[in-house]
Amino acid sequence: MSFEGLPRGSAAKKQSFLERTYFPEIIRGLVVTMRHLVKNILHTSEMPTMQYPEEKRVYGERFRGRHRLMQREDGSPRCVACQMCSTACPADCITIEAAEHPDPEIEKYPASFQIDLLRCVYCGLCEEACPCDAIRMDTGIYEIAADSRSSFVVDKDFLLNNTTEGTL
Ligand code: SF4
Ligand code: SF4
Repeated sequence: MSFEGLPRGSAAKKQSFLERTYFPEIIRGLVVTMRHLVKNILHTSEMPTMQYPEEKRVYGERFRGRHRLMQREDGSPRCVACQMCSTACPADCITIEAAEHPDPEIEKYPASFQIDLLRCVYCGLCEEACPCDAIRMDTGIYEIAADSRSSFVVDKDFLLNNTTEGTL
């Protein structure tokens, strides 16, 4: 057999029969796996992974979670449909339909208020732009799982009661 054209030293590295079976390396890999398995079973509290969803990571107070719309004392939205949040939104994911409010003291209210959470980048600009403190991102909820794209478009009723975790 000629080793012409192979890098220098290739001929000297010819594998033994045992090496060609790969058994020694397989056994070595299994020993490493078993060592970690036994260590993790005996010291579960030291494992870096979390038992999600039973165990949840605690985020800082300034963490921006899912949005919520604030309510007036009578339960109606504090929002006056000024569109400041949707104008500031860089993802163009807020859609508001304004309507005349029956109370002459309040000019408008959102007949419809939707946020597409799939487009949202959680920048918080909507919250900052709002002159009425009507939208907040202080729920601390980071779970936004759903089984259809349309479920990610959350409406006014959802946002007014957005306090529970879980699927949308
Ligand atoms: S957090 Fe940012 S991207 Fe999301 S709705 Fe508000 S302004 Fe738009
Ligand atoms: S949430 Fe605030 S900024 Fe957005 S439309 Fe309502 S009042 Fe205006």
